[in-house]
Amino acid sequence: GKADIGLVGLGTMGAALALNIAEKGHDIAVWNRTPSVTRDFHAGAGALADRIVPTETLEELVAALQPPRAIMLMVPAGAPVDQQIAALRPLLEADDLIIDAGNADFHDTERRARAAAEAGHPYLGIGVSGGEEGARHGPAIMGGGPRPAWDRVAHILTAIAADYQGTPCATWMGEGGAGHFVKTVHNGIEYADMQMIAEAYGAMRDGLGMPPAAIAEVFARWNDGPLQSYLIEISATVSAATDPATGQPMLDVILDRAGQKGTGRWTAIEAQHLAAPVPAIEAAVAARNLSARLAERQVGAGIFGAPQPLAPEALGIDQLEQALIAGKVLCYAQGFGLLAMASEAYGWDLPMAGIARVWRAGCIIRSAMLNDMAAALEDAPARNLIFAPDFSARLQTALPGLRATVATGASAGLPLPALAAGLGWFDTMRSARTTANLIQAQRDFFGAHGFERVDGGGSGQHGPWAGHGMG
Ligand code: NDP
Repeated sequence: GKADIGLVGLGTMGAALALNIAEKGHDIAVWNRTPSVTRDFHAGAGALADRIVPTETLEELVAALQPPRAIMLMVPAGAPVDQQIAALRPLLEADDLIIDAGNADFHDTERRARAAAEAGHPYLGIGVSGGEEGARHGPAIMGGGPRPAWDRVAHILTAIAADYQGTPCATWMGEGGAGHFVKTVHNGIEYADMQMIAEAYGAMRDGLGMPPAAIAEVFARWNDGPLQSYLIEISATVSAATDPATGQPMLDVILDRAGQKGTGRWTAIEAQHLAAPVPAIEAAVAARNLSARLAERQVGAGIFGAPQPLAPEALGIDQLEQALIAGKVLCYAQGFGLLAMASEAYGWDLPMAGIARVWRAGCIIRSAMLNDMAAALEDAPARNLIFAPDFSARLQTALPGLRATVATGASAGLPLPALAAGLGWFDTMRSARTTANLIQAQRDFFGAHGFERVDGGGSGQHGPWAGHGMG
């Protein structure tokens, strides 16, 4: 018999996905640019080796597959994906399906999907979240491309996906680059969620002078409450860990310079393209960029001094927990708002509640709150999450803690950029009259851009300052 699916790229993610697919009972043919990797992979597959067909040329890979074929690419995003499509396409028949399962820029996926459609070939771009562990035992999968193509492989993708109480975390998001767009925003939210947790850690470490072991206990306690999530759970674990080399708390020996592979930045860029306000996510991206400027920050500390420690009564751990609850709601509301604007602009009809559901298991941002967000978005997919009664109520309860945290942090010089940005977005969102009237007056003064009046009359009206502007 021939294999059900093919896979190109046996790196960290590809190897884990191939084993997952084989384990769920599907025969899979695999190919890797470096053939020795394929041989080693097959040799190390144990009992699953029977379901894996190692191949050393793309021709062999194609010949090993049951038509109509489906081949998944798990290679680095960018040029390698285009190279593999160009190498495979001449070997394939018209209705053979190529699936890019890497972290593609959705613009690339849109371009590749268009080219495939024009040539009469099916093409899918799917976002796979959960790292190596997720890929091996159950990732969250966000699919995009023609629905019939998705339906052809959905039984395999749902079989390998994470399971949330009987519901597989694999969902078709829409045409073209919809799946990769949703994956990108997932990562943008992940940046903000991580940054806000790191800010709470900073308030405990630098504000309240707590050692990592005590901070670990706080995170562990929070993980039993409304903040229950994978990111809080691992924050507790890493805070409790000890460096085997020095015996010091592990966190204390890790340099404060954070890496990134760019998906958070893409979220911020796409949000700006769409004029979608996502300041908490932008602040989290900026915080990683600031973290990279270690030498400059050391100069800053020398000139301006470190943040002042807080008196123990200045900020309670409960207030900090409330700050994180509010911050989390606000950053998800921003992320879902971006998704809603993209859905409209790109004509995707994204399943907003379905997105919240697919993120409940398998992926890095999985959390208890996502189940409630799914329920809230089910009612009214296009509504701002903070206007859903359940989340309005949570915010009313948690906002005093967020305000106290941001205010105390600002007084002491503790940096809380994502929490503060989330709050700024919220306080603008609840302003029936902002100060953009002054912006409009300024724009009209220096550039004769015109404005609308509160008492009507349409756009293009001017103030009594003709001739004073810079032109
Ligand atoms: P790895 O670096 O572990 O593996 C890369 C694989 O791609 C290798 O098999 C490599 O083959 C192959 N490859 C590299 N360049 C080319 C090329 N030009 N042509 C053909 N094959 C090539 O990457 P990952 O498995 O970590 O990542 C793969 C994709 O998954 C990326 O898009 C990544 O962003 C995404 N992803 C990664 C996650 C993670 O946690 N690591 C999580 C979610 C998505 P060779 O052995 O010959 O070098």
